[in-house]
Amino acid sequence: MTERIIPIADLRYQARMPAVPREPVAPVGLLTDARGRRLHDLRISVTDRCNFRCTYCMPKSVFDKNYAFLPQSSLLSFEEITRLTRLFVAHGVEKIRLTGGEPLLRKHLETLIAQLAAIRTAAGPPLDLTLTTNASLLRRKAPGLRAAGLNRVTVSLDALDDDVFKRMNDVDFSVSEVLAGIEAADRAGFRQIKVNMVVKRGVNDDQILPMARHFRNTGHIVRFIEFMDVGASNGWRMDDVVPSRQVVGLLNEAFGVEPADPNYVGEVAERWRYRDGTGEIGVISSVTQPFCSDCSRARLSTEGRLYTCLFASSGHDFRSLLRGDFSDEQIGAAIAALWTVRADRYSEIRASRTSPARKIEMSYIGG
Ligand code: SAM
Repeated sequence: MTERIIPIADLRYQARMPAVPREPVAPVGLLTDARGRRLHDLRISVTDRCNFRCTYCMPKSVFDKNYAFLPQSSLLSFEEITRLTRLFVAHGVEKIRLTGGEPLLRKHLETLIAQLAAIRTAAGPPLDLTLTTNASLLRRKAPGLRAAGLNRVTVSLDALDDDVFKRMNDVDFSVSEVLAGIEAADRAGFRQIKVNMVVKRGVNDDQILPMARHFRNTGHIVRFIEFMDVGASNGWRMDDVVPSRQVVGLLNEAFGVEPADPNYVGEVAERWRYRDGTGEIGVISSVTQPFCSDCSRARLSTEGRLYTCLFASSGHDFRSLLRGDFSDEQIGAAIAALWTVRADRYSEIRASRTSPARKIEMSYIGG
């Protein structure tokens, strides 16, 4: 009989204690890495738990009742997240995305949002504060999130057809509930809601046109995402990827689209708009057209490990610094020391080398 070994959640992935420089230098509000990329975005995972079991992200076969999710004591508290965020902002971060797992499962998330909304960027204005959600709780929570100071939401929805969507989320959750969440967010005052659709060949590629048709003229922006080789449990194969240029070709044939300028350097999605003025769509092509060269994102896991790339195999344990006897100045300097030497560009070189032995799961590091 084979015995199943349950990993101690905290030890599941490698992490090093960040080096704290002996003589910390005060932040100047602009930090660039070894390839000249600035630190602009911080993605914060607030929980590693999710109530969906999307087959491409948290398949039931791995994330079952025996799976060791992080214990409550491991999670960064709201105060710890806020303190660390302030230190990142001092180095030039202007955009925060709360993610997970499913971020709306984290109790009292509105309290964290209010704390983050009070932070001012180095230049003075508030942060661009946004959240990615599967929308299962959005109908109920949208007004409170907005009132707490959240600026924008991104909703994940992989199909308009209920059977296809249920097959993908694997928990029998229906499309109508997600659409109701989007409507509630709209009513609560969120504008230009982004709708993320991960496209998997033979699974939901027949949903590209229905999704585009549904959200045209609504002011919301569908973004078609290439299925990525994150983590080690989703059975990724290149054959399953529908290249973005095919998606754009399909949309152009059906509706007529033209390229739009990026909103800012390092924007993840390539923007397109309908020629007849009925709205905008985006494509995220991290497999076929990697955008490492201007990647300005750092990621903080639920337990306070910092990753400088979505495909990293190890993180940096900032929770130890937060819970140790370290000053803001020292922790800020540790962030700077890490970012300055950052040279990651996994997506650009994935084709020319084998994958790292242990890639971090998306549900842990945050999407
Ligand atoms: N639970 C939230 C949600 O559903 O949006 C936030 C976390 S989820 C990991 C964030 C995003 O990552 C979702 O839009 C999801 O579809 C996307 N995602 C997960 N695994 C992916 C993969 N292998 N390739 C591309 N996108 C993926």
